[in-house]
Amino acid sequence: MDELRRRLTDDLTDAIEGELRIDRAAIAVFSTDASLYEIEPLAVVFPRQAKDVEVLASYSADNGIPLIPRGAGSGLAGGAIGRGIIVDFSRHMNQVVSIGSDRVRVQPGIVREQLNQILREHGRYFAPDPSSSRVMTIGGMLGVDAAGSHAVRIGSTRDHVESIECVLSGGQRLELGRESLQSETIAQASLIHAAHEGAPSFESVRMETLRLSSQTPATRKADLISRIRLLLSENESLIRQYQPALLRNCSGYMLRGIQRTNYLDLARLLVGSEGTLGLFTEATLFTMPLPAHRSAALLMFNTLDQAVQAMQLLLPLDPSACDLLDRRLLSLGRGADPRFRDIILPEAEAGLIVEFPGSSEREVLQRLDDSQRLLRDRGIEFQMTRQASTFDDVELLWSLPAQVVSLLASLKGTSRPLPFVEDMAVPPDRLAEFMVSAQKIFQKHEVTATLYSHAASGQLHFRPILPVPGRGDETLIEAIARDLYRQVIQVGGTISGEHGDGLSRTAFIRTQYGPLYRAFQQLKEIFDPLRLMNPDKIISNDPQLTVKHFRRTRPNANHTESATAAPLLPVMQLGWSADEAADAAVRCNGCGTCRVVTPPERMCPFVENDGDEELTPRAKANLLRQSLCGDSHGELLTSESVTRVLNSCFNCKQCQLDCPSEVDIPHLILEARAQYVQAHGLSKTAWLLSRVHTYARMASRFSFVTNQLLKNTLFRRFFQRVLGIAAERRLPRFARTPFLASLRVQREDNNGLPGSSKPTVVYFVDYFANHHDPELAEAFVRVLEHNGYRVFIPPAQTVSGMSMLTVGDLVAARAVAEQNIRELAEPAREGYPIVCTEPSAALCLTQEYPMLLSSNDAEVVAQQTIDAGTFLMDLHRRGRLKKDFSPLTIRIAWHTPCHTKALRRGQPMLELLHLIPGITVLNIEKGCTGMAGTFGLAAENFVQSLKIGAGLIEEMKTIDAVAGVTDCSSCRMQMEQSSSIPTIHPIKLLALSYGLMPRLAERLKSKPAGLSMS
Ligand SMILES: Cc1cc2nc3c(=O)[nH]c(=O)nc-3n(C[C@H](O)[C@H](O)[C@H](O)COP(=O)(O)OP(=O)(O)OC[C@H]3O[C@@H](n4cnc5c(N)ncnc54)[C@H](O)[C@@H]3O)c2cc1C
Ligand code: SF4
Ligand code: SF4
Repeated sequence: MDELRRRLTDDLTDAIEGELRIDRAAIAVFSTDASLYEIEPLAVVFPRQAKDVEVLASYSADNGIPLIPRGAGSGLAGGAIGRGIIVDFSRHMNQVVSIGSDRVRVQPGIVREQLNQILREHGRYFAPDPSSSRVMTIGGMLGVDAAGSHAVRIGSTRDHVESIECVLSGGQRLELGRESLQSETIAQASLIHAAHEGAPSFESVRMETLRLSSQTPATRKADLISRIRLLLSENESLIRQYQPALLRNCSGYMLRGIQRTNYLDLARLLVGSEGTLGLFTEATLFTMPLPAHRSAALLMFNTLDQAVQAMQLLLPLDPSACDLLDRRLLSLGRGADPRFRDIILPEAEAGLIVEFPGSSEREVLQRLDDSQRLLRDRGIEFQMTRQASTFDDVELLWSLPAQVVSLLASLKGTSRPLPFVEDMAVPPDRLAEFMVSAQKIFQKHEVTATLYSHAASGQLHFRPILPVPGRGDETLIEAIARDLYRQVIQVGGTISGEHGDGLSRTAFIRTQYGPLYRAFQQLKEIFDPLRLMNPDKIISNDPQLTVKHFRRTRPNANHTESATAAPLLPVMQLGWSADEAADAAVRCNGCGTCRVVTPPERMCPFVENDGDEELTPRAKANLLRQSLCGDSHGELLTSESVTRVLNSCFNCKQCQLDCPSEVDIPHLILEARAQYVQAHGLSKTAWLLSRVHTYARMASRFSFVTNQLLKNTLFRRFFQRVLGIAAERRLPRFARTPFLASLRVQREDNNGLPGSSKPTVVYFVDYFANHHDPELAEAFVRVLEHNGYRVFIPPAQTVSGMSMLTVGDLVAARAVAEQNIRELAEPAREGYPIVCTEPSAALCLTQEYPMLLSSNDAEVVAQQTIDAGTFLMDLHRRGRLKKDFSPLTIRIAWHTPCHTKALRRGQPMLELLHLIPGITVLNIEKGCTGMAGTFGLAAENFVQSLKIGAGLIEEMKTIDAVAGVTDCSSCRMQMEQSSSIPTIHPIKLLALSYGLMPRLAERLKSKPAGLSMS
């Protein structure tokens, strides 16, 4: 294998402009998609232009190496993985080529939602609307004939394609669309084939012996057209009989409706071919005007039965969409977005979203009224909880299914709603009948299933709730599929309506199409006689495919044995077992939401900056799962390419927040990094930066000298060479007296002894406020005292240790955690709240210490810890926060830190700022600042840190505000990096407004300058 990979590198690296990868990270990451399967590819190529794909296809034919085209890898059937070269179009070939009045020419790697953002400026859109639109690429949509809720009215991808540029096995690049049947060349080619009459026409012209690469595109095209024409005419009656006209069907090849009077519509044929006929390098798509008027409503039902009956009554009214959601999906919807809480009734068993188009608002609302009247007249019991007719309101309703389908994966427990029979479609008038049979089949196998249905087009997304493959009975998966598919075929439906056959359904295509399958095989031979284009998809002789390549999900027993097995994953470093860590990694279902870098998600800053699949949280989960469950995990984790991936994480926790399955990627990465550090040690810079607090004491003692030196360019260059701290980074000044050494902390009455008449709060200070901003600590204490609290500041507390934890130095992190827990456990048990002004500290105490120490004390401290913003907002909500604020007539620029978001308590500091009269808050949402604790301090990360924070840095340079405000000290450093205005912690503004520390007004005037922060 390695030899073959090396040969591929030698042969192809200089032959293509794009990149070829055979390293461990690429192989591991591209071995999965959003399906249940896993197959290691030989290599991964990121083509930059169609010429690269020609070279690959020619090489593939000459050397017998399969090619597997790939978009975003969000396919649910395993279509984008395989043993061969993965050709990932999403990285470079993702541009709009040209835009016409009603067409657009695109490269396959462009994401559907991004294309539509561009088209929207022209008043148009690409209509097929799958719920994964923000992730999926046009290539993937063409690959499977994707569709969505509006398929009943606008059809599927196939209905919106004019032509496709396709590279065939052998390397010929052809534009295939509506191909005339009149041309002379085709006539000649037809004659040649006619000469084979008598012999099995396609067997006789098998092309195994033909060297595909030697054909010109023109001869290949003529040859294709004539053969396809022959194939279609030979199989006309079989096609009519076995490929019925369904609103949704993407199983097998679409032979129906391809042959017209005088042309063949080859674009229609190619759509849905799952990369098995050729690789698409460009496509011309039809665009549509943005819908003029539409209305939508959400209807709630007490029984699923009533919802199905209602749907059937509504269909003759010609809705543009009618989607059905079951009880589980509705309850996920209630939790997904506060706006859904009031419109989804907790007791509802099913819901319908129904939409009507029209030429005026009056008309669409009338159609909605008519539909409700009809349902009432027929005795259907329902409640309409929301009616919408503006663009935003209608879109909000449609965001409900998009959100809940992703959230399905977040259901807790060992069983999950698995996608393997998730794509059946039936004639809409047989939907109710089929649903009854399907329920019986689930009962027979003693499983429950979730249901989401584009009912208007007969599409049913069932997901049986079962243990993930590898942890349960895999034969059950096949048995359920077999029973359901038998039934769906019996009612004239299809096993796949919009997700494709891939690995999960290919073995059943023969059952669905009977003798027509032979025609599919012949079509495959016409395009790909050597069977090198995405093998085992649609055409395969392997009856075991459905259950053959399931992902590895169980930890390999050998991994948990002993510490001598280093650098494998021997003893887990965090407080979990290998099983628990594997569970966390297995939660990633590959949905690809973490590839999305556009708001509202923040997702991974490294992906936003770089766009590489290998840096996505899904790649990271995959690597960790494979290292725990695979055979060669030690090698995997220590290989250079994987180390790059593991280093592309600074524990900001945004992925966990935005991931529908809430996969705990940050802890998985910490675990892997800790293993690495245990085996290889820390780099010098990581060691020094994570221990700044130890030499900060000395720096504070000689603060006058230290602060002068830190401003000096020459000294900073020297500092960079010796310590690795970026010479251009603006640094905060050291305070002369650290807060914890101040009189306020050291005096005797600073104790947590019970008996005080005032309620007591424990203040956890952390590094920055202690050494650089004691004024903040003082301000916070005064704000609390002003509100009637006694504040206890445990004098022997130390830094939270987040920076040590993040670099993987768990030994050091554990030592500081133990020290803090010793200081905090007692007051925590007394029931005192432990309040932090630094969001990272609150996060560390609540989420990291319990993982690090696994002790009861750590749990108690975690339960009692709260961030300062939430604490004060709670007081405000209970009417106990004093409101004697004086006006501050200033404009400030607000940034929400990642760690504040990760605390999942909203934006309390921002709400508090709004309590100050006169203040104007400009909310900057530019994602992560890229500073991430000590990450942005290191010279080796400096440029990347600035790139990640570029949006915010730019905003801070130009914004019309007196100061930037945020509660994270690290974010403040980045905000001031190139800015001419200061930054300030919001607590200081509260103290200023309360009139507790008038001198703080000066902080709004002190500017950052040179290498110093304000
Ligand atoms: C949460 C979730 C919701 C979903 N909702 C929907 C939905 O509502 N409707 C729907 O239709 N699908 C849905 N899907 C499935 C999936 O998003 C679609 O199948 C999508 O079209 C796949 O696009 P992709 O870019 O991820 O392609 P991939 O998964 O990378 O590939 C899909 C197939 O297309 C082929 N392919 C990719 N690029 C090319 C190319 N350039 N040339 C030739 N073949 C190519 C691949 O070989 C593969 O067979 C959903 C998936 C998830 C995870
Ligand atoms: S990490 Fe989460 S968002 Fe990313 S692919 Fe996995 S489940 Fe989806
Ligand atoms: S914790 Fe942050 S940096 Fe790490 S993978 Fe998640 S989003 Fe990316």
